Amino acid sequence: MRNITVTIGAIALLAGCAVSTQQEVQMGQDEAQQVNAQLPMVQDAQIQNYVNALGNRIARTTSRSDLNWQFQVVNSDVVNAFALPGGFVYVNRGVLARASNMSEVAGVLGHEIEHVVRRHSVKQMENAQTANVGVGILCALTGVCQSGVAQAAINVGGTAVFAKFSRTDEIQADEGGFNNVIHAGISPRGMYTFFQKLLAEDQSSGGGNASAWFSDHPGTQDRIVDIQRMLNQVPAQTLNSLATNDAGFSSMKARLSQLAPAPRAQGQ
Ligand SMILES: [Zn+2]
Repeated sequence: MRNITVTIGAIALLAGCAVSTQQEVQMGQDEAQQVNAQLPMVQDAQIQNYVNALGNRIARTTSRSDLNWQFQVVNSDVVNAFALPGGFVYVNRGVLARASNMSEVAGVLGHEIEHVVRRHSVKQMENAQTANVGVGILCALTGVCQSGVAQAAINVGGTAVFAKFSRTDEIQADEGGFNNVIHAGISPRGMYTFFQKLLAEDQSSGGGNASAWFSDHPGTQDRIVDIQRMLNQVPAQTLNSLATNDAGFSSMKARLSQLAPAPRAQGQ
């Protein structure tokens, strides 16, 4: 409890202050260290390399290509992904398991990359919307994650609880992510088909492993309509010239099917 009081004080100190890129990267590194220590990662170099290479291919096309982008796969069947300040992006194994082609994974990565490009979590801190600041930022400031309480919070829903973004942030991340993917020469159709798939799964199973995506990424149904609108604006010839799949995807999927089942997360 004492730790939490200290934390809120620390956030208040940052209120109204502009966070530099250096501070942002430092914050992300601190959070990434906590995440890597507390969430299980997929221990397979081929899978990790595939996702890291795909993520970097997309991130390099953005205005923040100078960041040291790192993409990792969390060993959880829950469908989710999240980004930390400074370019640390995590995608759950559940996303890879449900993806039918490279462009579907790219759509999820492109979305998370855009949260970082637009500094969404940093802006939340700068605006001192403490109610929206998640465990991740608290960890960075205080090391409170070493406590059992924070660890339980991190495992809620099988994924980390970080800054919750607004619907506006989510729409921006979709729109920016859509363009990031195109700039990398990848079809943005995957973003549409993947979100459709999650929606169908969510509706048929009453939640299940797809529900975490919807609670962490609000407004999915409206966002699918928005993505469809954007797709309609891309000339068919352009869409057809963009890549939907690559050889690495099927090798990655083959490796994935050989892995031992993911550990069940707390709260599942
Ligand atoms: Zn998002």
